[in-house]
Amino acid sequence: HGTAAALEEPIHPGVSVDYTQLLINGNFVDAASGKTFPTLDPRTGEVIAHVSEADAEDVNRAVSAARKAFDEGPWPKMTAYERSKVLLRFADLLEKHNHELATLETWDNGKPYEQAANIEVPMIVRFFRYYAGWADKIHGLTMAADGPHHVQTLHEPIGVAGQIIPWNFPLMMFAWKIAPALACGNVVVIKTAEQTPLSALYAARLLHEAGLPEGVLNVISGFGPTAGAALASHMDVDKLAFTGSTDTGKIILELAARSNLKSVTLELGGKSPFIVCEDSDIDQAVELAHFALFFNQGQCCCAGSRTFVHESIYDEFIEKAKARAINRTVGDPFKKGIEQGPQIDKDQFEKILRYIRYGVDGGATLETGGDRHGSKGYYIQPTVFSNVKDDMVIAQDEIFGPVQSILKFKDLKDVIHRANNTRYGLAAGVFTKNIDTANTLTRALRAGTVWVNCFDVLDASIPFGGYKMSGIGREKGVYSLMNYLQVKAVVTPLKNP
Ligand code: ADP
Repeated sequence: HGTAAALEEPIHPGVSVDYTQLLINGNFVDAASGKTFPTLDPRTGEVIAHVSEADAEDVNRAVSAARKAFDEGPWPKMTAYERSKVLLRFADLLEKHNHELATLETWDNGKPYEQAANIEVPMIVRFFRYYAGWADKIHGLTMAADGPHHVQTLHEPIGVAGQIIPWNFPLMMFAWKIAPALACGNVVVIKTAEQTPLSALYAARLLHEAGLPEGVLNVISGFGPTAGAALASHMDVDKLAFTGSTDTGKIILELAARSNLKSVTLELGGKSPFIVCEDSDIDQAVELAHFALFFNQGQCCCAGSRTFVHESIYDEFIEKAKARAINRTVGDPFKKGIEQGPQIDKDQFEKILRYIRYGVDGGATLETGGDRHGSKGYYIQPTVFSNVKDDMVIAQDEIFGPVQSILKFKDLKDVIHRANNTRYGLAAGVFTKNIDTANTLTRALRAGTVWVNCFDVLDASIPFGGYKMSGIGREKGVYSLMNYLQVKAVVTPLKNP
């Protein structure tokens, strides 16, 4: 298939897996049950390591360690400047251990090592420095009330934050969740995804080396319906943050409501439009649309998975998008120059192949790809469909794989209506040189992010989150602080007004 690199014997990562237990109260410990589960190498399906498997009892242990750390300190009572210094030292350690972190990320997840080492680890370093900068700039207001009262607001940490993250960006999701929570003085119990437990354990160890007090961050590995559900329904968890599928998000919200009404932020699925207008530079648009969909093996909640192309440039766009997909280098993610590694696991691999079959059976034109790549591991050929219609399954469901669906549109009114005609609203891409077209689209699209002539720009300061069924709340930037603070009004009568 194309110029894809041959799948030879997988390269040995050359880093050992040192941390596989649960991190509770500052110590690595076995699960109470003694149970473990295997975490697999998506290049081969072979076992990398056996990892402690948390269930409800371990969640109880982790939550009570966190509770104690919050109620008795020192973390919430430390000066904000001291907290900020811990986060800054952590950022330095992450930078120093880039290679180990990127290696574990690639090994456990399958993403290209160059992407992990050159993009993702530096992004989380920046992320922790960004929130370290916020820690000592959080404060309330003084307000003018009617009557002789001194009125002020205190912005206080919420308490024990439960956090549940997915497998597509294990380190980045870990950072997006814990950095704002810790900067605001909360304590955390985070459950990693069962497919990718390794990198967060390594990073959490570094955070303790940076001076984090015990119990402030507890990391548990385990499965959703057991460990995840126990965390979501725990009576002593004050706040819950979840990233994952929309279906699981609904369960999480229900568990939170049924237990103690803990406040919930959700970052869920998407089916983001990428709109290529008639005035576009076609080569640039093809490249960006390719990146918007294929980045991270197509495993991005904000992937530009509906590529809408204006009819006047449609045929040329298809030819070029197809050629670009054929040129995508697929292979062992530890090799240099590899753009695409394997999908995360067998379930996802089979699900994507099933969607490709729906595409063919539904009448879309398969331009390239459509099958597995090689005979081992979970690699899938970069796949492009043209003549995709709005009512096809591949235009409606989140595929979460390297499958680009290209749709034709006539005018702006038509594409706005169709782009918004989805239950999701996470992101959108707009490609045009006309400022009026850009302004019309950015205001009309119902999505939490609109990227104009760019895509997946995800700086620490830029808020991220969904409209409609793509989520509740915003992460990153100043907005994430709101998720981890509560406001207390303090009212004092003024003597001798
Ligand atoms: P994905 O399709 O990306 O695996 P999920 O929503 O199933 O999405 O998983 C995201 C995270 O949610 C993982 O950490 C997973 O273990 C967790 N999870 C899955 N099911 C549940 C559940 N019923 N309760 C709590 N957490 C869950």
